[in-house]
Amino acid sequence: MSVPDCIFCKIVNGEIPSDVIFHDEHVTAFRDLKPQAPVHILIVPNRHVESLSGLGDGDEALAGKLLHVAARLAAQEKIAESGYRVVVNNGSGAGQSVFHLHLHLLGGRPMLWPPG
Ligand code: AMP
Repeated sequence: MSVPDCIFCKIVNGEIPSDVIFHDEHVTAFRDLKPQAPVHILIVPNRHVESLSGLGDGDEALAGKLLHVAARLAAQEKIAESGYRVVVNNGSGAGQSVFHLHLHLLGGRPMLWPPG
């Protein structure tokens, strides 16, 4: 299901341009418009889900698929050995600004802890 005003639904459906690097029947991945690291990829479910908290019973396979795609893309982008971070901002208090669930895959530079 798509939501008309959702920018990530539009990217999934090819209605607005984006640097898409993975797409199958369940998941799409594309490069972040404002990268925070040399590699910064967003991995989203094709179906509109607002946030991690919006996943329901029965979405376990989708959740696993999102993580699996992140790991595969990390290898493809050659950041698996140097290390990478997968982040989900859940809710505006945690920094979520686009309310279509997405994993940030970040790598290619040292990562600090704790995050800001
Ligand atoms: P968040 O703040 O966790 O919701 O992350 C949203 C991310 O989406 C930010 O890193 C934005 O730079 C990114 N973003 C917003 N619009 C686009 C777009 N049209 N194409 C690619 N990335 C986008």
